[in-house]
Amino acid sequence: MEPFTYTRPTSVPAAIAAFAEAGERARYIAGGTTLYDLMKLGVDTPAHLVDVGAIAGLDRIDTAGDTLRFGGGAPMADVAADPVVAGEYPVLAEALWKAASQQLRNMATVGGNLLQRTRCLYFRHGAGGLYPCNKREPGSGCAAIGGLDRGQAVLGQSDACTAVSPGDWPVALVALDASVEVEGPEGARTFPVADLYRLPGETPHLEFTLRPGEIVTAITVPATAAGRRSTYHKVRERESYAFALASAAVALEMDGNTVAEARIALGGVATVPWRARAAEAVLAGATLTRDRALEAGRAAFADARSGRHNAFKIPLGAETVADAVMIAAGRTL
Ligand SMILES: Cc1cc2nc3c(=O)[nH]c(=O)nc-3n(C[C@H](O)[C@H](O)[C@H](O)COP(=O)(O)OP(=O)(O)OC[C@H]3O[C@@H](n4cnc5c(N)ncnc54)[C@H](O)[C@@H]3O)c2cc1C
Ligand code: SF4
Repeated sequence: MEPFTYTRPTSVPAAIAAFAEAGERARYIAGGTTLYDLMKLGVDTPAHLVDVGAIAGLDRIDTAGDTLRFGGGAPMADVAADPVVAGEYPVLAEALWKAASQQLRNMATVGGNLLQRTRCLYFRHGAGGLYPCNKREPGSGCAAIGGLDRGQAVLGQSDACTAVSPGDWPVALVALDASVEVEGPEGARTFPVADLYRLPGETPHLEFTLRPGEIVTAITVPATAAGRRSTYHKVRERESYAFALASAAVALEMDGNTVAEARIALGGVATVPWRARAAEAVLAGATLTRDRALEAGRAAFADARSGRHNAFKIPLGAETVADAVMIAAGRTL
């Protein structure tokens, strides 16, 4: 690991100022559960870390009222265990507690989870010229395309990058139309969580829409009745901690056995947390059956494109959506 300096401010303005003073190679750090890894691997080499862990109030969780509000520095474990989240929004709680391990969730924050970088093996383990990677070194090429691509995306990929967006929590947030609040040198702004992520296109190294020095201060989720009939269904190599091969966040509003409204987002299969509008359209107004749910799952993957080893993700993803829809529908109010 390269040497770096470190500060631990206690307010958002002080953190923004410390970041600006340190210049281009500054990074915020929260739980450190992914950034320290990337530093040890030589993938990221910050010169200065601004620790947001001591900022007063950044870990605040507020679930009363019409909007749920989670401070960017709130530990994943605390948000998952919040009684309102656990009881009324299973999709949010499950996305958190099916991510990583309990020890990691105790350290990791809901803001840091939004900004974790891909687990593409070539990205993480190719530093020092071992493997080309356009995300790590713009313009160097992509070792995953035509390589070991079992874990790669089948939706949203480009000829420059097929890396999967790894987080579970952002998928659930995108399904529930959550927003992110940020504060930076140019002031504060709020925008949909979905807009935090860029498709890789020709510039896969540009992953997020945050401006330099912006801190994620909070994540907000509109309170919705669909929260209760919801689930985060995650298929992975093993039940202990592992990233998703395919996942679906589903929240439903039902009128008897008819779907009044469906919200569906996908993880593990796309380059960004993927809202599956085509699947939602198949379900809206329909009588719910397993066949209809599978039709929705297939619609979600109608435009999917596989590489050498990941074609299995297309039927797996469709079945994952179908299962998630039936699990969500089976939840009692
Ligand atoms: C073994 C292992 C298994 C895992 N499995 C899963 C899994 O199954 N699903 C899953 O979703 N995740 C998984 N993770 C990833 C884990 O969830 C993330 O490491 C964690 O959520 C990151 O949060 P953090 O607070 O530690 O972030 P950090 O490592 O501190 O930071 C991550 C990034 O976010 C930035 N950042 C952090 N906080 C802020 C802020 N408030 N404002 C602006 N920028 C900020 C940092 O600059 C950095 O770029 C796993 C990790 C490990 C090590
Ligand atoms: S898929 Fe993306 S992250 Fe992986 S090697 Fe190719 S460019 Fe790099």
